[in-house]
Amino acid sequence: MSLLSVDSLVLRHGLLEAVRGVSLQIEPGEVLSLVGANGAGKTTLLRGLAGAHRPASGTISFDGQDITRMPAHRRVRQGIALVPEGRRLFANLTVEENLLVARRGAAPGRWDVEAVYAALPMLGPLRRRRAATLSGGEQQATAIGRALMTNPRLLLIDELSLGLAPVAIDDVYASLRGVIGDGMTVLLVDQDFSRAAAISDRVVCMLEGRFVLAGKAAELTREQITEAYFGLHDRGVVA
Ligand code: ATP
Repeated sequence: MSLLSVDSLVLRHGLLEAVRGVSLQIEPGEVLSLVGANGAGKTTLLRGLAGAHRPASGTISFDGQDITRMPAHRRVRQGIALVPEGRRLFANLTVEENLLVARRGAAPGRWDVEAVYAALPMLGPLRRRRAATLSGGEQQATAIGRALMTNPRLLLIDELSLGLAPVAIDDVYASLRGVIGDGMTVLLVDQDFSRAAAISDRVVCMLEGRFVLAGKAAELTREQITEAYFGLHDRGVVA
């Protein structure tokens, strides 16, 4: 059985249909990259899965249970964690305090601060540092750690490398590789789709609220993804 099953999901911002009837299945242990240009609907979809955006129609099932109307805090307890775009850490709290905040309302499981430091080694030496003083890559690792503290079975990550220096991008991808190696199921959004695809089993391309291409990461070419990303097929530009 799929861990996540989404059927004909529609998400609106007022009159705008940002997600236009998408269907998606993610198997346990699978890593799926969601790629698409700005405004394609990726953030809205992730927020819809996390329970932060109420669907207009369609269904979301998690581990066989219909969670379409379930509020966000209960989805966390079911094992769905979102690493939001922009990290959203508590700037005045330390790394460790940011991690501990996430324990409230967490699903039962093995993750605690020591397990997070073991999985994300860059965080240990920073545990007493205020989040506001961290580099972008360190903040992103803290945000991933905070999500792990909720004992997720599905990790939703929005814009993993946005705004990070190249060396920091290497670090956060290395950290994420470790978490994936541990068997985590991940839905990853990143503008850097070559890197995202390299750690993914499958890639789905989104354009104007719809999925326009889906396939195994190892089988899709960079050209196919680029064409889907820019909607070249849809507009008949490619011969
Ligand atoms: P980005 O990479 O820019 O975050 P995205 O693929 O994540 O892009 P969304 O942020 O989900 O796309 O936006 C999808 C559509 O919904 C866009 O047309 C966007 O302008 C619109 N939108 C997003 N948030 C809101 C909002 N709060 N109110 C109104 N429209 C919104």
